[in-house]
Amino acid sequence: MSVETKTIRENLERIRERVERAARRAGRRAEEITLVGVSKTFPADCIREAFEAGVRHFGENRVQEWEGKRPSLTNLEATWHLVGHLQSNKAARAAHLFHTVDSVDSFALAQRLDRALAGPEEATEPQRLRILIEVRLAEEETKSGVSQADLSGLAEAVLALSHLDFCGLMCIPPLLENAELMRPRFEKLRDARDTLARRLGRALPVLSMGMSHDFEVAIEEGATEIRVGTALFGSRATNRI
Ligand SMILES: *Cc1c(COP(=O)(O)O)cnc(C)c1O
Repeated sequence: MSVETKTIRENLERIRERVERAARRAGRRAEEITLVGVSKTFPADCIREAFEAGVRHFGENRVQEWEGKRPSLTNLEATWHLVGHLQSNKAARAAHLFHTVDSVDSFALAQRLDRALAGPEEATEPQRLRILIEVRLAEEETKSGVSQADLSGLAEAVLALSHLDFCGLMCIPPLLENAELMRPRFEKLRDARDTLARRLGRALPVLSMGMSHDFEVAIEEGATEIRVGTALFGSRATNRI
C-alpha cells in the first residue's frame, strides 16, 4: 500500500468520524449525508485510491480537466459531479461527461444541457441528467449562482425540461475563517429550498453545502451532500477554488 493510499484512507476515516459526530449532534443519521470527494487538480490515481477507500461520488470543477482524467477511470462505478461554474459552450460536453451538474445558474445553460441529451440516441435509451441550481446567497459575495429573487422562476422553467432531473440546491459561499460564521448562509439555503419546494409542490431532497473546513456546520443545518477536497486529498498545489 502506498503512502498516498494510506493517507487518503486515513483522511476518509477522519472525515467519516466528523460526519458521524455532526449528524449525531443534529439528530440525523450519517447515512443521509453523501460525501462528494472534490478531486480537482489531483490526478486520476488519487481518485482511484479514494474509490478503493470507499468514496463513490466525485466532483470536478472543469470540464476539460475531467476529460483528461476520465479515460483512465472508465471502469470505476462512481457518480461524477460537475461542481464548478459551467460555460454555455461546454454544456453539451458536460451533459455527457457527468451524471450530475450541481452548479446550474441560468436557463440558457439548463436548456443547453437538456438539448444535448435529446440526441438521436434517445430512441434507444432516454438520457437524463441530475441537476442542482446554484444559489447566490448575497448579492455582493460571489459571482456565480442565481439570485434568490430569480430562483423560483428558474426552477419552474427548468422543471419543463424533460431530460433534466431537478433535485435541489447548492451554494458556494465565500470561505470564512470561522466555520461558525457560515451557519447563517447554510440556514438561508435550507430556507430557500423549503420555500421553493412548497411553492413547486414537490420534494427537493438535495442540499449541497459545506466544504472541508465547514461541513459539520452544514450538516447541522441540513446538508445532504458535502463537497470535500482538501480534507480528503490534501492541499492543492494551486489554490484554486
Ligand atoms: C474546490 C471546491 C470544493 C472543495 O473545497 P475544499 O475546501 O478543498 O474542501 C467544494 N466545492 C466546490 C464548488 C469547489 O470548487
